[in-house]
Amino acid sequence: MAYAADKPVWDSVSVLAEQVNSGSTTAASLVEKALQIIHEVDVNYSAIITTLQKRARERAASIDIAIQNGQNAGRLAGVPFIAKDNFLVFGAETTAASNILKGFTAPYQSTAIERLEAEGAICVAKANLDALAHGGSTENSDFFVTKNPHDLTRVAGGSSGGSAAAVALQMAPFALGSDTGGSIRQPASFCGVVGYKPTYGLVSRSGVVAMASSTDTIGVLATSVDDIMIVMDIISGPDELDGTTIERLSDSLISDNLDLSGKKIGVIQEYFGNGVDSAVSKVVQAAISKLEKNGAEIVPINIPSIELALAVYYIIVPAELSSNLARLDGQRYQYSAPGSSTLNESYDQTRSNGFGDEAKRRIMIGTHVLSSGYYDAYYTKAQTVRTKLINEFTKAFEEVDFMVGPVSPTTAFKIGENTEDPVKMYLQDIMTVSANLVGIPAISVPCGHIDNLPVGLQLLAPQRADKSLLSLAKTFERLSE
Ligand code: GLN
Repeated sequence: MAYAADKPVWDSVSVLAEQVNSGSTTAASLVEKALQIIHEVDVNYSAIITTLQKRARERAASIDIAIQNGQNAGRLAGVPFIAKDNFLVFGAETTAASNILKGFTAPYQSTAIERLEAEGAICVAKANLDALAHGGSTENSDFFVTKNPHDLTRVAGGSSGGSAAAVALQMAPFALGSDTGGSIRQPASFCGVVGYKPTYGLVSRSGVVAMASSTDTIGVLATSVDDIMIVMDIISGPDELDGTTIERLSDSLISDNLDLSGKKIGVIQEYFGNGVDSAVSKVVQAAISKLEKNGAEIVPINIPSIELALAVYYIIVPAELSSNLARLDGQRYQYSAPGSSTLNESYDQTRSNGFGDEAKRRIMIGTHVLSSGYYDAYYTKAQTVRTKLINEFTKAFEEVDFMVGPVSPTTAFKIGENTEDPVKMYLQDIMTVSANLVGIPAISVPCGHIDNLPVGLQLLAPQRADKSLLSLAKTFERLSE
């Protein structure tokens, strides 16, 4: 890896905040350090769309003044972070890596950013993604492809590929991402960092460019589970700006290691069949054995409808995103095709020029499955199978406390390897989409390497069991040290 691979350059976020609050370091120096690393490293990796120098420096200065005046600047005082470029950050450009939003200045900001800033964290940059979060490699970004920190010829994963690469390259201690079908976990797995997708509704979606509203989740990428716990603790919980948000089950999401004895972990059998790289299976099986040796009871578990999950996902998600993207019509948001003589022509030209191929493909699929005559055959049927999948997971969780499997069937693939065939690309999502369709929390934790490329272990828990899932992940992380 390029930047200081042999040693961490950031302390944990709690230590950093303590140092800033106690005056042993300053917010300004942490911001300068992050900006410097981005400046040195990003030329090779293209993880970042925009850096927020001015805004970040101003925020750092006001935090440092507050501390000099004897105030406590919060649990993340002065800690730099990076946001995927589909998060609205007040006054900053938010493009979602799409030409149609290029130049759009956020008139308000996402709840997650708001809550982090209230605790003193400082957003230093916006990270690359597949345009509008459609994809699993950042190759669908309308701007550029993010390179894998472990191998420049390979993808960083996606759609939060910029966030994952930025954290792996230590540009900042943590990054925000969104996960609609695997977009936090898969790039985390490809880049060798921890990536957390919470229970649906645990973190407000307000101020994040909508993809598919029933599966969109906001989460965190970092180098340790401890850092993820703190960030999740700050950003989660009800928000009046998002009617789907839920109360947390416990006051805090921060917890210690989990005692594995008496814990039952189900190994999802469907994730070890055809199409899964045998080297990936082996690394993941070895990780599962570690959990077993340390007291967990490992049992095989079957979720038969998992085999249909990808088909269900690629009906429901395009249906929802085709509806969400209707608002990008050239009348209210950024790009508007010039020279149109009628409203219809303006819609037509704006959307034809503004959307990339993948967005158009998904809008067409979505519109088709929702159209009269096809609605029942596709959309209703997909929703029926989704319910079946939810029921199967619910039943399985009566038998086990957690589930486990790989994150992705392969390690990071070569840039260009899957771009010619959309179905081949979609197949990469086979092990991540179920957690989104069911609304359960899931995490990718680094568990080994194949030819120097990282492999992630996926751990899953029932809805709202976020605290115990993070605790399990922390325990596994300790076992791997
Ligand atoms: N790779 C998946 C897709 O293309 C997931 C995207 C996401 O989670 N935003 O839809």
